[in-house]
Amino acid sequence: MRWDDFRESTNVEDVRASTGGGRMGLRLGVGGTLLALAASYFLGIDPRLVLGLMSAVPEQQSAPQAQYGTPQDQQGRFIAAVLGETEDTWSEIFRQRGLTYTPPKLVLYRNYMPTACGSGSAAAGPFYCPLDRKIYLDLSFFQQLSDEFEAPGQFAQAYVLAHEVGHHVQSLLGIADKVRAAQENASRAQANQLSVKLELQADCFAGVWARNAEASRHFLEQGDVESALRAAAAVGDDTLQKRTQGYIVPESFTHGSAAERDYWFKRGLNGGTIESCDTFSAPTS
Ligand SMILES: [Zn+2]
Repeated sequence: MRWDDFRESTNVEDVRASTGGGRMGLRLGVGGTLLALAASYFLGIDPRLVLGLMSAVPEQQSAPQAQYGTPQDQQGRFIAAVLGETEDTWSEIFRQRGLTYTPPKLVLYRNYMPTACGSGSAAAGPFYCPLDRKIYLDLSFFQQLSDEFEAPGQFAQAYVLAHEVGHHVQSLLGIADKVRAAQENASRAQANQLSVKLELQADCFAGVWARNAEASRHFLEQGDVESALRAAAAVGDDTLQKRTQGYIVPESFTHGSAAERDYWFKRGLNGGTIESCDTFSAPTS
């Protein structure tokens, strides 16, 4: 993809400098580990649990120092550019419906990040927190996407970011609130089904963004869409579960299967409108 003419967003909070520095868990040292083992011995708790708890706590307790505006490094600038493009595209889509688009903030962090929605960690991947309306992103996820999931390419990264922006759009349109309310009176299986539909709609909204951005910028290149679809398939629940458990448990899906994610991203890409993304009325597979 070409992004040289994308407007770089200023809605980036860069805390990489103050949240980085060594992996969590390696900071305990020998003394800390012995202390943890002693504590678990005397308290009768599984030492792995104590060590896990201790390593999940970051060394630095104060709020990370943020740099606001547009990052200067190439990876940070790319993220700011894609974010800026989603702002322009969604502002226009909202304007056509007589609505105002308020862009989300994007927090770039490393390793560990306290958020209004609980702790972010690199292992959990990128996520959107509806409580503070911020997207949290650890760039090492993109490295993982390219190394482990064989989904390299900048458009695959743009798709991941556009999916999180899709969650912000759901929040602005009141869809996320409605789903949460419906989940309160639903069975576990139904509630999970609603989560899947919310996720698939975010995929579809990513496609809607790509379609509209392509119409105004002509930024897509050969192979871009395929690389994004590989990314969608790679982070589909069935693929992730197969990698981690070796078998598939459809009841516990929260993002949808690879095939479903593929289907809804393409639907957004071809339809280009919010209406193309009614995953809630679509029959459940
Ligand atoms: Zn999602």
